[in-house]
Amino acid sequence: MKVTIVGTGYVGLVTGACLAELGNDVFCLDSDADKVALLQAGGMPIYEPGLQEIVQRNVEEGRLLFSSDVKASVAFGDVQFIAVGTPPRDDGSADLSCVFDAARAIGRHMDRFRVVVQKSTVPVGTAEQVARLVRAELQAHGKDLDFSVVSNPEFLKEGAAVQDFMAPDRIVVGADDDLPGRRALALLRQLYAPVNRNQERLRVMDVRSAELTKYAANAMLATRISFMNELANLADCLGADIELVRQGIGSDPRIGYSFLQAGAGYGGSCFPKDVDALCRTAQSSGTRLAVLEAVQSANLRQKQVLLDKVLAHFGGDLRGRTIAVLGLAFKPDTDDMREAPSRALVAGLLRAGARVVAHDPVAREQAQRALEHDLAGEPQLLAQLGYVERPTSALEGADAVVIVTEWRHYRTLSASLLKRSMRTPLVFDGRNLLDPHQLASQGVACVGIGRSNLS
Ligand code: NAD
Repeated sequence: MKVTIVGTGYVGLVTGACLAELGNDVFCLDSDADKVALLQAGGMPIYEPGLQEIVQRNVEEGRLLFSSDVKASVAFGDVQFIAVGTPPRDDGSADLSCVFDAARAIGRHMDRFRVVVQKSTVPVGTAEQVARLVRAELQAHGKDLDFSVVSNPEFLKEGAAVQDFMAPDRIVVGADDDLPGRRALALLRQLYAPVNRNQERLRVMDVRSAELTKYAANAMLATRISFMNELANLADCLGADIELVRQGIGSDPRIGYSFLQAGAGYGGSCFPKDVDALCRTAQSSGTRLAVLEAVQSANLRQKQVLLDKVLAHFGGDLRGRTIAVLGLAFKPDTDDMREAPSRALVAGLLRAGARVVAHDPVAREQAQRALEHDLAGEPQLLAQLGYVERPTSALEGADAVVIVTEWRHYRTLSASLLKRSMRTPLVFDGRNLLDPHQLASQGVACVGIGRSNLS
């Protein structure tokens, strides 16, 4: 099948590359000329395990191309995926301007039946707005063509995106029950057939329900995280260990273990903005999502907890101290720094007078850009921030080490290494990654989240 992907970011590039890998011909459009040039030259704008090899193979075999040519992109694909960004506006609602630009371009240039697939995360009702924009452009250009706008929200996890595409838990498709809608659904069934043997993973529904399903999924996961973070803070007050509590409740099949890890707060490009956007949608529908509003504010507080623990230990003054920060990306196996908890932490440590030596296996460049942006007006602080290539180098002479991202590289930090390298062997474990009993028995203090009985 011939497919166009509008927007070649985390979602668009993975979708395009994987669809090419399945044998389709894929045209990836992006309005960012630098990104297109990089991809055309064989470079990768993002880090995602396994993606580079797939992109390279499919470009070489002629099934995948990158371009900024809008007219050619609309002419190419029978199916046009919209996978552009939907960042938050200042009021928390989703900024849909890129989605609407893409919709207008499709309407302006299309010359035969097209399926427009809404893959970006968008508020309920957006597919109807997209359809209106496409129709208006068709009318403005004197064209009478059929099309269908389908909702097919994306559930990939950064760091496991290729695997998620190739072996999805579910594929949600919201389509209208009219002739163009049924035609669109048939095309999508065909497109997804290789990753959906027996059709058992396809959940077909109306468009509005599909749009809401995406927000509901992220909101549920964010709720579990904030719930556990709040319980962890209580465990700190009560002298209980949240890790034991987690195991105790996770073993109940009605609860399960996923997304129950207490930590330094959730980040990334999706949870914060999607929870905000859903709260805004509720407000503009004249109702409120009180639980979700609390989830969001609990998360903002949680992003301060690690910093507060460090400050409390050092009496609020970090002048003359060197703090090692391990992990900058918002989660392991990605270089994505959007809303990463490390950003507020590093800025807070620097503002309290510390010198910070940071390590991340892949996010260094993105982190540098993000922190330069966050600390733009404070160049004297940026001068106190350094990056190293290896976690062991960050530890050299440090007064404390703070683990912010649960990269597997940090799981093996041993007491002997910490004692040998650091000025004081002291760990603030923002992801409860290390065994504090073991460290304590070997003379290393380890302050986790919700494990105060062990510190
Ligand atoms: P991104 O910012 O990484 O990529 C978006 C791309 O779209 C950029 O390269 C941008 O240059 C391009 N673009 C913007 N307007 C364009 C236009 N008119 N024409 C062509 N290209 C255009 O975003 P992302 O992380 O891939 O997210 C895309 C959407 O998918 C968002 O709605 C997001 O919420 C959703 N989503 C993201 C994830 C994730 O893990 N990143 C997971 C599920 C869903």
